[in-house]
Amino acid sequence: MATFITDECINCGACEPECPNTAIYQGGVEYDALDGSKQAAISNEFFYIVPEKCTECVGFFDAEACAAVCPVDCCVPDPKIPETEEVLIARAKEIHPDKTFGDDFPSRFKEGAGGGDAEGGGESTDAAAGGAGSTPVAAPAAGAPVALMSPEDALVASIPAIDDWGVPLSCFRCNGDFEVPFQFIKPGTVLHCPHCGGSFVPNTTMYQSIASRLTKFYDSWTNELTQIKKRRQNELDEFEVKLRDGLDGLKQEVARLDDSAELAGAPQRNRGFFG
Ligand code: SF4
Ligand code: SF4
Repeated sequence: MATFITDECINCGACEPECPNTAIYQGGVEYDALDGSKQAAISNEFFYIVPEKCTECVGFFDAEACAAVCPVDCCVPDPKIPETEEVLIARAKEIHPDKTFGDDFPSRFKEGAGGGDAEGGGESTDAAAGGAGSTPVAAPAAGAPVALMSPEDALVASIPAIDDWGVPLSCFRCNGDFEVPFQFIKPGTVLHCPHCGGSFVPNTTMYQSIASRLTKFYDSWTNELTQIKKRRQNELDEFEVKLRDGLDGLKQEVARLDDSAELAGAPQRNRGFFG
């Protein structure tokens, strides 16, 4: 089925340059039909896809490139236009008569392909995102020196901050693996694969699923730490009560010994052990 753009489009333009078939046009802009004629825009409000030019990226990528870069997940399969891989690769050949497509052409229909969802295939890198490297920064959280912290707090501080977590990604174009600090995985941020330079824009779904997983991780361990501290405090409180009771008992016991010593007739002044 062809891909189409829903009215959730925010007109960011990220998808247009990614299409290998120039099937995407800005709202209100005429499109070039396959017969060379100019045709009226399909949408005047949002970016739109010309169905007769869309191959769902069959012949070029393992997933739909427009869907991979769309920050709001509004490039979706059109259930009203179901098309087979054979139809789509034939269209790709028609649109690109000078290009040779081997038997192993990329396709979202092939086993292990990305399936059209940027979240599954993943792709990105920093470049435009501000120069962050492809390696996560595993720096401890800022704060009091680790040496002054309790062992529990020091352990938690040794975990990278959420923004510094390296998110593992795989470029859907070149299959290159790399990592991007989570702080750059924001919807609408244009990232680039360090291997092939291909662009990628994290979408909302991807961002939210990673953020949710990281937050759950931190919440879980923070709660665990809180419980440990509570248990430890309770143990310390119990220990203090026992210690005071023991000390009181000891004082009384020694006082009795002291009294006994006096009664035994020792001719000396009783000063007591505790003043
Ligand atoms: S699915 Fe691929 S071919 Fe179709 S509009 Fe999107 S980028 Fe272009
Ligand atoms: S990437 Fe998505 S939101 Fe941006 S113009 Fe294309 S369809 Fe619209």
